[in-house]
Amino acid sequence: LFISFEGVDGVGKTTQVERLREHLEAHGRTVVVTREPGGTALGQAIRRMLLHGVEGGAADIAPRTEALLFAADRAQHVAETIRPALERGEVVITDRYLDSSLAYQAGGRELTPQEIRNLSMWATNNLLPARTYLLDMDPALSHNRLQHAEDRMESAGDDFQSRTRQAFLDLAAAEPSRFRVIDASQTIEQVWAAIETDITTLLKE
Ligand code: C5P
Ligand code: MG
Repeated sequence: LFISFEGVDGVGKTTQVERLREHLEAHGRTVVVTREPGGTALGQAIRRMLLHGVEGGAADIAPRTEALLFAADRAQHVAETIRPALERGEVVITDRYLDSSLAYQAGGRELTPQEIRNLSMWATNNLLPARTYLLDMDPALSHNRLQHAEDRMESAGDDFQSRTRQAFLDLAAAEPSRFRVIDASQTIEQVWAAIETDITTLLKE
């Protein structure tokens, strides 16, 4: 079973990923928790390049370069971590997957969502999650949850965050059978209750 969590920065993805892990382990499942970018050693190196640039490099990474780096991270993540775990019959929970690329990299001007999707489907050899939890809230609120912007992405303006939120909502609307949209402005317990209800149903299917 392959599950992803998506949403803009600071909506509480990491907290809910851990709740879901505990829940599934308590029900006897073996769970692999992972994330993008940076779910593998190679991915960690790519993550550093993406978020902090390289010494002596240009301040801006070209949009196509950025898309390829995220796709390279994902290709390695799937090959090294996700597929082997799924083949062992384990549950994989990832904090971000291809929908983040669609929402962030296609949110800009240069690349179309279709190009990004094709790139990602090629990189993963067509691996999609069975379920994607979109934790949705107003970025003006979520941004306040972050004490400090940790990297060049998180320090992007609220405008960018709002467009990204809308991009996630559009993706969810286009694929209602894969996505569950959860109001992340609720308490941690309320958000978890919504996930728990859904996962219980999913595991029975
Ligand atoms: O979620 P996390 O903080 O690990 O992500 C690092 C940054 O990379 C985030 O600020 C997010 O906005 C950005 N990101 C992105 N495209 C992706 C995945 C993450 O722009 N495909
Ligand atoms: Mg972050």
